[in-house]
Amino acid sequence: MGLVRKIIRKITPYKAGKPIDETRRELGLRDIIKLASNENPLGVSPKALKAILKNSKDLNRYPDSYGYYLKKKLSRTFGVSSSNLVLGNGSDELIDVVIKTFVEEDENIITSASTFLEYAIIAGVNSRKVILAALKDFKYDLEGIRRKINKKTKLIFIANPNNPTGTYVNKRELDVFLKSIPKDVVVVLDEAYDTFIDVDDFPESLSYYKTRNVILLKTFSKAYGLAGLRIGFAIANSEFCSCMEKVRQPFNVNALAQAAALASLEDREFLRKTKKAIWAGKQYLYDSLDAIGLTYVPSVANFILVNVEKSGIKVFKKMLTRGVIVRDMQQYGLKDYIRITIGTMAENRKCINALKKVA
Ligand SMILES: *Cc1c(COP(=O)(O)O)cnc(C)c1O
Repeated sequence: MGLVRKIIRKITPYKAGKPIDETRRELGLRDIIKLASNENPLGVSPKALKAILKNSKDLNRYPDSYGYYLKKKLSRTFGVSSSNLVLGNGSDELIDVVIKTFVEEDENIITSASTFLEYAIIAGVNSRKVILAALKDFKYDLEGIRRKINKKTKLIFIANPNNPTGTYVNKRELDVFLKSIPKDVVVVLDEAYDTFIDVDDFPESLSYYKTRNVILLKTFSKAYGLAGLRIGFAIANSEFCSCMEKVRQPFNVNALAQAAALASLEDREFLRKTKKAIWAGKQYLYDSLDAIGLTYVPSVANFILVNVEKSGIKVFKKMLTRGVIVRDMQQYGLKDYIRITIGTMAENRKCINALKKVA
């Protein structure tokens, strides 16, 4: 330990959602469902699977470092140019790339409390200071963040929608915020769940990156069902992108991930089915939670933060013995809560049945 950098010794590692296989080994259960990591319950797009098989014969070759074909497809899909895109090994890697690209040693980063844990962890690994603004009514408090900005502030992370609360900042709030902050602060809008949005006042985030210091992060891990392949992307002005390209690893996105992501962008049907399943599942879970008498935070994403009115860890452990993996919220500072990822209807029912017995 003595040889390890001081900051590394202090970091609490990221605790991932408990894997199905591990639960099987530890508890000897057969039927287990995982509603813990906001993954796509419908699996992988059949078109993506086909692309993976087709491309696997060339695995002796390094992947395309630049991701030419995928960027071309992304630029058509999102109406941006290839020079406005950077690919990452999941958007997790891009969080690291952004911090390394923009934040000097003595500068700080602001984000919210009870948000995606990776912002603070990756900042810590990079020896960068993080300032947290408290949530307000389970939402990012943009005014609270603005008040914390000082001369040393370089970067602000906004998860929109926020994980784990499922809340969002709307267009008006974001517009006001972006106008109110210093011009030399970079704002990252992490939109991992944008596909699930079912409200009409969500920010049109693609309108910001040309005129403001805004970077969008998006991922194939959630709605597109490719969490296991690790691929995400950033959209930003081309100067930002060319600098971020220098910071990322040259072969950060593997060949199968590139091919599968491209194919999944072409599978509109899979995306449509996914959204339909999530929205129907959300209504079922709301109704069932109401019937049980548990309160929850209304969500625009594919997960729901539920107040279990007692230790979330205890509820998590009891649900585990019934073959249902959810996420306890201790690491997020929300001790009496669990987060449930919306699953297939059969999974949602199993989850509610378990919750009825333990909560
Ligand atoms: C899941 C998630 C990500 C995506 O991570 P990947 O590395 O792309 O799998 C990014 N941000 C937030 C807020 C998330 O919840």
